[in-house]
Amino acid sequence: MKEKYILALDQGTTSSRAIIYDKQGKIRSFAQKEFTQYFPKPGYVEHDPQEIYSSQITVAAEAITKMRIHDLSIEAIGITNQRETTIIWDRKTGKPVYNAIVWQDRRTSSYCDQLKASGYQELIRQKTGLEIDAYFSGTKIKWIMDNVPGVRKKAEKGALAFGTVDSWLIWNLTNGRKHLTDVSNASRTMLFNIHTLEWDVELLNLLDIPAAILPEVKPNSFQFGVTDSLIFSKKIPITGVAGDQQAALFGQMCIHKGMVKNTYGTGCFIMLNTGQEVIESKNRLLTTVGWQLNGETTYALEGSVFVGGAVVQWLRDEMGFFRQAASSEKLAASVEDNGGVYFVPAFTGLGAPYWSQDVRGTIFGITRGTSKAHIVRAALESIAFQSYDVIKAMEQDAGFKIEKLRVDGGASANDLLMQIQADVLQTNVQRPEVVESTSLGAAYFAGLQIGFWSDVSEIESQWQMEKEFVAEKSTDELQPMIDQWHKAVNMITK
Ligand code: ADP
Repeated sequence: MKEKYILALDQGTTSSRAIIYDKQGKIRSFAQKEFTQYFPKPGYVEHDPQEIYSSQITVAAEAITKMRIHDLSIEAIGITNQRETTIIWDRKTGKPVYNAIVWQDRRTSSYCDQLKASGYQELIRQKTGLEIDAYFSGTKIKWIMDNVPGVRKKAEKGALAFGTVDSWLIWNLTNGRKHLTDVSNASRTMLFNIHTLEWDVELLNLLDIPAAILPEVKPNSFQFGVTDSLIFSKKIPITGVAGDQQAALFGQMCIHKGMVKNTYGTGCFIMLNTGQEVIESKNRLLTTVGWQLNGETTYALEGSVFVGGAVVQWLRDEMGFFRQAASSEKLAASVEDNGGVYFVPAFTGLGAPYWSQDVRGTIFGITRGTSKAHIVRAALESIAFQSYDVIKAMEQDAGFKIEKLRVDGGASANDLLMQIQADVLQTNVQRPEVVESTSLGAAYFAGLQIGFWSDVSEIESQWQMEKEFVAEKSTDELQPMIDQWHKAVNMITK
């Protein structure tokens, strides 16, 4: 018998990736392709939906070809995607009526301010778990309806379809046969009631969005459809779908209440599994659906740090301190401590739990003796401190202490940063063998549906730790540093 595999499609913000996993949850092949970012005006960020799809199909074919297997060996496809990014297309022609409006796009922020000023925050938080923000899909849909000629009329007649990127890929892979999404992506639209798990009529009315354009919402492991016969040599079932952060939480096997993961990429994305309980945040975190599996819904609290690994990129590209991000570790380790330097990398404001859009970064405590190494060390510490602030907010909301943190993403390769994180949090930091948690999560959802893996406990036993970081410094040693960090933050936010 030939070995069988799961193909995960990871449609990210800057690139499309395809990863082939075997039964042991190991990566067997990988392909990646960047695609064009469009910035038509300040604050606007768009993608070409056709390029999203074509780059995704290209890497899928490449991953299969590289491995020298036949696509007959692919048992199922799992999809994970950049969340919130909004596409509207014509049901008949399959053509988008406008470019994809990307999650980073701020064009609807003044409309969001109006919604807040009209007092809708509480209603929206209560129903969707979200803050009113241009980040989410709802106001982006409204913008397309209001600004692209003819769209509203067509939408009201049922001739158009809306989808986040998962829906767009499913639609194209099934050649227009399926218009579906999953609960994790739906919960990022600001139109979805996370308690009833249905589109919310009151919110649709508020934003003046016709229900006829919405996809049907399904659990994460589900028969979403089969690929059209034109795409692969057999019809491959699409059986797993989840938004990127939820997929990463699942890929990290944070499947029990109280487990938390942090993805250290450009930003840091922290998510805590809160089990079947919907916890409403008192600290401006987001409440979201983690996943729906076997009829049970798992919820999560989420907090994001805007500038994580990006601060290292900045030191590399703008300051010219080193040529490769990985060199930051050696440089920072060449000094014993930060020498009193604190770096608040609020390049684009501060995310959770501060939500200060308008503040900008600062480096604090510089003396004549400050060296490059101190600044680099302070930069790495800033990633750990910002994550600390989010995790402390999560602990307050959840009412329990987080015992361990699972990590992934590019900057999680930095041992010094991981050690600092363990020290600051006084929590064990666990880095897995497979740090491709996002695509792995999508593969797991897909494989569970078809019995490729029999159940979650089989998968759980596959999760392997590559390295664990245990706190080496005491709270007494750390608290003065945390206090200094907060002093630096307060200097720009107060
Ligand atoms: P994204 O998915 O957001 O593009 P990645 O997970 O690929 O991000 O991580 C890339 C980020 O991690 C970059 O901002 C880079 O500066 C940072 N990074 C990568 N390797 C290291 C390292 N060894 N130490 C510190 N930062 C790193």
